[in-house]
Amino acid sequence: MIICDTHCDVLYTRVFQPENKPVVTPENLQAGGISLQTCTLFSGTDGVEKYPYEAGIKQYREFRRLVEEENWVQANSPLEAEDGKVRYMLSMEGGEILEGRPDRVEEFYRYGVRMIALTWNRENEIGTPAKVRSEGGIKPAGWDILRVMAEHRMAADTSHLNEEGFWDLINKHSQPPMASHSCVRELCDHFRNLRDDQIKAMIDRGGWIGINFYPTFLSPDGRADACLIAQHIDYICQMGGEKHVGLGSDFDGIETTPIDVETPADVPHILAELRRRGYSESDVQDIAGLNFIEYYKRLGWNS
Ligand SMILES: [Zn+2]
Repeated sequence: MIICDTHCDVLYTRVFQPENKPVVTPENLQAGGISLQTCTLFSGTDGVEKYPYEAGIKQYREFRRLVEEENWVQANSPLEAEDGKVRYMLSMEGGEILEGRPDRVEEFYRYGVRMIALTWNRENEIGTPAKVRSEGGIKPAGWDILRVMAEHRMAADTSHLNEEGFWDLINKHSQPPMASHSCVRELCDHFRNLRDDQIKAMIDRGGWIGINFYPTFLSPDGRADACLIAQHIDYICQMGGEKHVGLGSDFDGIETTPIDVETPADVPHILAELRRRGYSESDVQDIAGLNFIEYYKRLGWNS
C-alpha cells in the first residue's frame, strides 16, 4: 500500500533543534510503510524568523546532505511514490522564506519544493494567518507568487492561513488549494482547523486535506489516539470527501502525540481504525495515499 504523509518538521528539528530527537527517521518510515514523506522548510521561531530565507536554505542543505550521504531518495512529485520504498518530497511552511520575490518560487521549485504553506503563524508579504486575524485576504504580492506557483504546478497550502485568504484561494486561484496539516473545527474548535463550509469548498474545488496528528487540534481536552484521527477523517468522508482526505502528521513539529501514534511506525494503527469503522480496502488505500497523488494529477502532474 502507498502511504503519503504531507507534513513534518524533521529538517527544522535537525538543523535548529538538535537537542530534540527526530521521530521521522528512515527506520520509522520503513516500519510504518510510508512511501512518501513530505519534509517542510520552515520559516522558524526563537529568532530564526529574522532570517527566513537563510533558514530555508540551511534546511535545504541538510536535506541535500541526507540525500547524498545517507541515501534519502528525493521525490520530484507524489506520483513517484512506490510501495515498499521510502521517498521524501520537499515543501515550504511560511511564505516569508520567499521574501515577496516570485523568482524565489523558481529557485525553490528547482530544489524540489512542490507545496507552499503561504503563511505560518506570522503575517507576511503573501497573506495573514488564522492566528493573527480572520480578515485580510491574499495580498497583491501574494498573487504574483501564486501565479508562478501555479505555472509550476505547486500546491497552495492553506494550513495556518486565515479565512479570508482561504476563500480567496478557493474563489480566485487557478489551481485547487489544499491543507497539508489541519483538522475538523466542528470536532475541535481551534483556529488551525477547518470549518464545515471550508471542508465542503475544498471538496467541491478538487482540493485535499491532510489530518494533523497534534492532539491539541484533534481534541478539546488535548488527548488523542488513532481512533480520534480516524474520526476526523470519517467526518470529512461523511461530507463526501472520501477522495479528498489523507494524512498530514506534523511529526517533529508537535509537542505531544496521540498515545498510540507516536512515530511514523504507528501510522498503520490509523488505517486499522478506518477498517474497524467499516472502510473498504479500496477506501483505506485512497485515504492512505492515493487521494494525495490524484490531487497532484489535478494540479497537472502526470509523471
Ligand atoms: Zn504547521
